[in-house]
Amino acid sequence: MPGFPGLPSRRQGSATIPTSVREDLPREAHIASLLEIASRVRGAIYLYAVIWVVISQTGHFYERHTTFVLANAAGLFVVGVMRTLLHLKLAVLLRSDFERTARAFRVLTSVHCLHWGLLCAITLQWKEAEALRPYMLLVGVGVAQGGTMMISIDRVLGIAYPMAGLTPVVLAALMNPTRDNLVLATMCVIFGLYVVASARVVSNDYWSGQVARLTSEERARQLEIVSITDSLTQLPNRLFFNQQFAVEWAEARRLAQPLAVAVVDLDHFKRINDRYGHLFGDVCLRAAADALQDELKRPSDLVARYGGEEFVLLLRNTDLEGAVAVANRLAERMRSVELARAGHSVGLSCSIGVCATVPLAEQDPDSLLQRADEALYRAKHLGRDQVVALGDKDRTDRTDRGEPALTA
Ligand code: GH3
Ligand code: MG
Ligand code: MG
Repeated sequence: MPGFPGLPSRRQGSATIPTSVREDLPREAHIASLLEIASRVRGAIYLYAVIWVVISQTGHFYERHTTFVLANAAGLFVVGVMRTLLHLKLAVLLRSDFERTARAFRVLTSVHCLHWGLLCAITLQWKEAEALRPYMLLVGVGVAQGGTMMISIDRVLGIAYPMAGLTPVVLAALMNPTRDNLVLATMCVIFGLYVVASARVVSNDYWSGQVARLTSEERARQLEIVSITDSLTQLPNRLFFNQQFAVEWAEARRLAQPLAVAVVDLDHFKRINDRYGHLFGDVCLRAAADALQDELKRPSDLVARYGGEEFVLLLRNTDLEGAVAVANRLAERMRSVELARAGHSVGLSCSIGVCATVPLAEQDPDSLLQRADEALYRAKHLGRDQVVALGDKDRTDRTDRGEPALTA
């Protein structure tokens, strides 16, 4: 079964999805994951700059250090604009160059958190910014926790984003190792580990959901193929023929084009079974199916196994004359099929009934098949190994005798 080698049949909860399985998922799934992150964080992109300006009002910091506040607000805003621009073109860019775009996406997202982390670190080091510290750390914790949960679908971001925010704080605290700062650094490390671990859980849940969805889609696709394929010959089966026939009938009616069907029945097939056994009969059926399939030239031509040793052709935009030409070619080809069995050379032949029509609104599609069947019956009656065509309108019979049969 094509698709995802090594996929577990069922995964639940936060069971770890092996990296190889995640990487084996189609590129589209990875693109969708980054687009999902983009849509989740879109509304928060400019909050960094706004919150920073609000917090800077504390303790008259803004009045005293207006340039510093505005420069940093501008920095946070510019990164926001860059993220917005990237998000606008994200789907296109990811499809044209996934690796580079994903890297730019991760870097820009983490840079926002890094900037906030640096501002927090500054409030630890800079006495005049002391009043801002609790608010900056509070928002930093919120950003590291809440933000990470939003972006943790992506494993890299789930680590890079909280680390970018917390590392400057830890380093600033360690550079000035007071008792309080050491406690703060320890808390940040514990908190960071906790955030990374919970991001992993969220990521696993998301990816196991993706794996389950893609696996069931793949299974549904496989089941659909099985349901419309004949298992012996691998040709489309009767169900598929019926579906296509309905579609082609409607299309031919809309375009006022001729539509032809031909019913192909192997001659004296029972004898082959009786003489050489059913297994060899199956081999013959496969050879007959291959011959028919191989001989059809137009991509729109359809051959299906209708049942037993009977096949049916559906020829779009083909009038009776054209269909007879195709049927004669197929009958000729069938005569050339030769199979070896117990020292004997076993040949095949078939009788073909053909009918074509330009469908009318009031016409029953089954009438076309019935006429083709009637033509087949006549071909059998006339001695087999031949093509009989019955016109739909004038109902004049036309018989086309083939070469003598190469029978078993
Ligand atoms: P005719 O020329 O009149 O069509 O003669 P026939 O023997 O082909 O026709 P009949 O309908 O009497 O027999 C069809 C045979 O096809 C009977 C059945 O055993 C055989 N058959 C149908 N399906 C299969 C199959 O899947 N495998 C094999 N080996 N034989 C099959
Ligand atoms: Mg037969
Ligand atoms: Mg038959």
